[in-house]
Amino acid sequence: MSGLCEEIGLRQPVWLNPLNLIRVMPAKEREFRLSHSRIIVVGAGVAGLACALELEERGLQVEVVERGRRLGDGSCSWMAGGMLAPWCERASTDAAVLTLGEPSLSWWSRRFAGTVRNGSLVVAPRRDTAELTRFAERTERCDWVDGEQIARLEPDLSGRFHRALFFPDEAHLDPRRALPALADELGKRSVPIRFGADFASADGLGALIVDCRGLSARDALPDLRGVRGEMIVVRSRDLSLSRPIRLLHPRLPLYIVPRGEGVFMIGATMIESEERGGASVRSTVELLNAAYALHPAFGEAEILEIGVDLRPAFPDNLPAVRRGPGAFYVNGLYRHGFLLAPAMAKRAADAVLDSLMETSDADLRQRRSA
Ligand SMILES: Cc1cc2nc3c(=O)[nH]c(=O)nc-3n(C[C@H](O)[C@H](O)[C@H](O)COP(=O)(O)OP(=O)(O)OC[C@H]3O[C@@H](n4cnc5c(N)ncnc54)[C@H](O)[C@@H]3O)c2cc1C
Repeated sequence: MSGLCEEIGLRQPVWLNPLNLIRVMPAKEREFRLSHSRIIVVGAGVAGLACALELEERGLQVEVVERGRRLGDGSCSWMAGGMLAPWCERASTDAAVLTLGEPSLSWWSRRFAGTVRNGSLVVAPRRDTAELTRFAERTERCDWVDGEQIARLEPDLSGRFHRALFFPDEAHLDPRRALPALADELGKRSVPIRFGADFASADGLGALIVDCRGLSARDALPDLRGVRGEMIVVRSRDLSLSRPIRLLHPRLPLYIVPRGEGVFMIGATMIESEERGGASVRSTVELLNAAYALHPAFGEAEILEIGVDLRPAFPDNLPAVRRGPGAFYVNGLYRHGFLLAPAMAKRAADAVLDSLMETSDADLRQRRSA
């Protein structure tokens, strides 16, 4: 935690908090104050857009400022695989990722019609079957499936794997369609997104700031670090998959997310490096080799894009909402931006409402005693 910021923990939503029942401000005046409080959300990545929606839905006046000229410019969210896979992630992450991530499946289904709820499949080469057992032991809500069941789920993988783990409740989405859908929804609710606006300071704006700048917020959150991820987008006319496939391998774990129309995202490296340069030859070869091991048809696929970005992460790799002077920070979404943004947006909106109520009540008390 930075010296200036205080972390906001999980707690009851503000309307369930019994302390609020004894607040002194008349309801009408409080409502008026809340609807006239101005909130500036900085950053139109997945965290910023989810926060803006959540705040608007709580009746607040919101605007978003984004440094990029359009959605996705300079945003880590544009590079994401878009897997909503809390049970698969549980195999290698803290239980909080599952607790916070599970509700995001219905959050996304409600807000983005392109959310695909076909589950995920985890496979391993025959010699690495022990990896599957280890994976299953570290998580829950998965079924063992045999070669025939694999072929029913994914006909193009028929005969390639004899055992797999199927996670029926997981989902995926295309971030490059999901983010515009959130932006459209904000537009319908008259929440402006001001592109090309490099936000520097809240001084003189008379607004409360919700800072969702991702890795750029390191000036205020010095313990934030970048974790490099490289990904490749390909098109194959010979292969069709209905759900994300994870290939377990001691050296080259990989996932492939179908984007429709023969397009697949192959991801992703996890490198403790803040180097923003292009993808390395080694990473590219390893990702493509692993894809080829999943199915040789990837050997004939057309490479559409090789991308790199840095995932914003705190030392414990868990996201947080922190409160600093005049601002709330929503950050550290690491490799779970799409999975955890809905829960973090709810937490941030609760904290903002609490803070506005505190200010209003203090204000009124001061006026009464004057
Ligand atoms: C290869 C890869 C694969 C991934 N796959 C998945 C996945 O399958 N599932 C999943 O849930 N997560 C995944 N992630 C993680 C996810 O992408 C991140 O956790 C998430 O994008 C972080 O979102 P954010 O909104 O915090 O940051 P960002 O998306 O980086 O957004 C920050 C925004 O703030 C703007 N900004 C910065 N400074 C300013 C300023 N001064 N003024 C105005 N605007 C500013 C930036 O331009 C940017 O648009 C993946 C990440 C990578 C790299």
